[in-house]
Amino acid sequence: TQYLDRIKALNPALNAFITIDGEKTLEEARAADAARAAGEAGPLTGVPLAYKDIFCQEGWKTSCGSRMLDNFVAPYSAHVVERCRAAGMVTLGRTNMDEFAMGSSNENSYYGPVKNPWDFNAIPGGSSGGSAVAVAARLAPAALGTDTGGSIRQPASHCGVTGIKPTYGTVSRYGMVAFASSLDQGGPMAQTAEDCALLLNVIAGFDSRDSTSLERAPEDYTRSLEQPLTGLKVGLPREYFAEGLSEDVAQVVQSAIDTLRQLGAEVVEVSLPNTRLSIPAYYVIAPAEASSNLSRYDGVRYGHRAAEYSDLVDMYERTRAEGFGDEVKRRILVGTYVLSHGYYDAYYLKAQKIRRLIADDFRKAFERCDVILGPVAPTAAFDIGQLADDPVQMYLSDIYTLSINLAGLPGMSVPAGFAGNGRPVGLQIVGNYFSEAKMLNVAHQFQ
Ligand code: GLN
Repeated sequence: TQYLDRIKALNPALNAFITIDGEKTLEEARAADAARAAGEAGPLTGVPLAYKDIFCQEGWKTSCGSRMLDNFVAPYSAHVVERCRAAGMVTLGRTNMDEFAMGSSNENSYYGPVKNPWDFNAIPGGSSGGSAVAVAARLAPAALGTDTGGSIRQPASHCGVTGIKPTYGTVSRYGMVAFASSLDQGGPMAQTAEDCALLLNVIAGFDSRDSTSLERAPEDYTRSLEQPLTGLKVGLPREYFAEGLSEDVAQVVQSAIDTLRQLGAEVVEVSLPNTRLSIPAYYVIAPAEASSNLSRYDGVRYGHRAAEYSDLVDMYERTRAEGFGDEVKRRILVGTYVLSHGYYDAYYLKAQKIRRLIADDFRKAFERCDVILGPVAPTAAFDIGQLADDPVQMYLSDIYTLSINLAGLPGMSVPAGFAGNGRPVGLQIVGNYFSEAKMLNVAHQFQ
């Protein structure tokens, strides 16, 4: 009830939650208490958790931040929700997000923008902005987010919390509303790396209902937390510390690197020459996949349907015109264009080739280091409204996060300091495939 009270008091100002249901939360809490009394409690039994409104949860509205799904109550639960419920975690509510996870500022939500608790004029980041704010404002001890091109790491950075996007295939996408399926990955957000590790222990693992889920032996992501960092090889990509990075963020990241040096890490310079191509490649591939994934919202099967129409085609058109916001429409237009006959080779195929080059850049870099460090975003959180009418400028701010998704690598953000204006700045830690335990170790030692 402590968290429910806090949500009741602060959510009207923050807008971090789309749906709360105190009755249901208390019912789950009582069940967790009973499990504990019966000696059946695990490490997270009774721990409250907030879910990004992209994870289907049986009996809860799952809107994905869209008018299209404003009336949609999920008939089943996502794999990760099943896992968290089975671990005895208690649902606190469903958090706000950019519509269909498209955005970097949470301004694209049908339910209105989320406020950054550090500064009400600042965006919280996106698209998992509600989850980041819920954790930052202590409305929840932990939350789940998703990251297609930075949506866990960037809001974590802007709100001063910790978040990890695991290696693609680690967390099942079953029941997670699809944006760009080859990039989407769910992950934990919490105050500390240790909490993220505990939550990752619950949600990671093979699921036959997601064809890209990886069949690997379960691991304990907390196992390396206490390991000293002596001899750790830290790679700094030349391209991440070049033009475009703001002075404040550079300073915070630099002092984080100094701290890691004092902890015994050794710094080497690496190069990721194709970094700048990650923006055009991502903004071809992600919309292409989105245009296909979002074709299911036709007003027939579920979700919004226009009230008046003359025939079937008119019904489709009105439904989609009313149900989707501007950014989603923009992505669908771009996506169908780059996939269309005659343009496919020039855009989509080329983007796939760039994707391979980006993955190769990382492969070479990881021959020389254990983890790569850098900024999460070029600046601290910008003002609400500042980039709302400038989508290209907004896309450019994803420069340090997109390539990690294109390569399928794990990445995380850890709070590292503050910009001159008092807004939080995160440090990005990128690891090789399946090196989550090592990354969490670095983050834990740093914290
Ligand atoms: N900002 C990126 C986009 O708008 C990433 C979003 C995400 O990771 N879901 O597509």
